Amino acid sequence: MPFPIRTCVVCQEEFELKPDKPGFANRCPSCSEPEVTEKPEPEESHPMDAGERRVAMEVNAARRRAIRDMLYRKDT
Ligand SMILES: [Zn+2]
Repeated sequence: MPFPIRTCVVCQEEFELKPDKPGFANRCPSCSEPEVTEKPEPEESHPMDAGERRVAMEVNAARRRAIRDMLYRKDT
């Protein structure tokens, strides 16, 4: 007894609608897995905008200044 054939609403692929198929009935098995289709990149890899980049540069500059002051004081 064959399973009914459905067309996936996401990728238009035809798939067998098995009774134990997880996820939506109108999506194929691969489109029913949200972590595979929705977030290809991890959160950390998003590019910084100009404001974030400036803040990061200021933090780095302040840190460098603090280290230089520390070393300078040690030398004298
Ligand atoms: Zn699909």
